[in-house]
Amino acid sequence: MKFEDYNISYEVKKGLDALGFKKPTDIQFKSIPPILKGEDVLAIAQTGTGKTAAFAIPILSILQEYKKNQSRDDGVKCLVMVPTHELAIQISEVFNKLGKYTRVTTYALFGGVEQDPQIKELNEGVDILVATPGRMFDLVSQGYLRLHRINTLILDEADHMLDLGFIKDIEDLVKKLPKSRQTLFFSATINDYIKSLAYSLVKNAIRIQISPKDPVSKNVTHSVMFIEMDDKRFFLERIVNEHPESKILVFVRTKVRAERVKAAMARVAIESETIHGDKEQASRLEVMKKFANGEIKLLIATDVSARGIDIPGVEYVVNYDLPDVSENYVHRVGRTGRGFNKGVAISFCSEEEKPILEEIETFLAKPIQVIGMDKRDYNSTIEFTADVDNDWKKLLKDAEKEEYKPKKRK
Ligand code: ADP
Ligand code: MG
Repeated sequence: MKFEDYNISYEVKKGLDALGFKKPTDIQFKSIPPILKGEDVLAIAQTGTGKTAAFAIPILSILQEYKKNQSRDDGVKCLVMVPTHELAIQISEVFNKLGKYTRVTTYALFGGVEQDPQIKELNEGVDILVATPGRMFDLVSQGYLRLHRINTLILDEADHMLDLGFIKDIEDLVKKLPKSRQTLFFSATINDYIKSLAYSLVKNAIRIQISPKDPVSKNVTHSVMFIEMDDKRFFLERIVNEHPESKILVFVRTKVRAERVKAAMARVAIESETIHGDKEQASRLEVMKKFANGEIKLLIATDVSARGIDIPGVEYVVNYDLPDVSENYVHRVGRTGRGFNKGVAISFCSEEEKPILEEIETFLAKPIQVIGMDKRDYNSTIEFTADVDNDWKKLLKDAEKEEYKPKKRK
């Protein structure tokens, strides 16, 4: 079935057309009809399968039809809760693009910036608010934002939004919303505990959509290499040099390591940027923009930015360090292979990370393919580094060779 055959508003179809979206992805096919009917939905579908449009299309359509009979704005109708600023911006952009020909307005609300312009924007009339919890609650408690008109609550990255850090916020929020609302949950990963929490937040039976057996997107080929901690930089150097034109996203465990890997790459004349929680919001957005438009080819990130981010054309994801939380493996490798594109993910696993690898494999319910390497291959990667100053291993080896050379007598 094509979008043109859908029972959605003409203006949304025009938006879909402008984006070049012709037919729905699986999750869109399954969730659009129940959402249009007003049902509660819990949708689990792999990364990059178009979950944003799966809720944006029906919500925009409903609100567009509603607004046709409405002469004045009467408050926020739909609230989308997301974990990060980046995601708030990205999702509001999807609503704005799809809703370009509608009268529906969407606004992204997040902290770390002045609130006065946000209040002004809200006063001018916002139908769909995409928000992180902190700033939203600030504005509610100051009386600038009212939630009593909200018909639809959407939790994107739902398992994360219902997890320890956010659950209190969400429970408080739900108390302030009309009881008769529609609630939608979208995520690539979920567990039974979170599922029961989700059920506790809704009145009606939830429709469960696609629950993939393998949470890793089928568009992503992923494998692991066994590499010692101190050698990881040489292998990253090699991957970057072998794919000079590719956009590569590298995940590390900590902010400090992100900066260290950047410095290690700089020593071998490879340019990169970092993104992590210690960076100013403005500089995070700037870096993301440069990576999205290809000005930066190598981005080194902590998990902070993994969830939900849709960067065009990321061909490789490198897990320089394995993630501490197993489901983050799925979210990290899911930054490639998005939409109809294919992607490759490679994880570096050191001796001390082997227990983490085991946990991830248990979570995935299957082993990750191992890229085998004999000693010679391994050592040749290390020897080929352009890092002259730090190349003590090669120097030592050269020295050894020198020693064993039979000395010629004159
Ligand atoms: P998810 O939230 O499932 O990880 P996104 O909503 O971020 O995925 O979408 C992933 C990519 O797929 C985006 O780049 C989006 O533009 C593209 N996409 C979504 N729906 C369609 C469609 N129906 N046809 C073509 N591309 C689509
Ligand atoms: Mg998403």
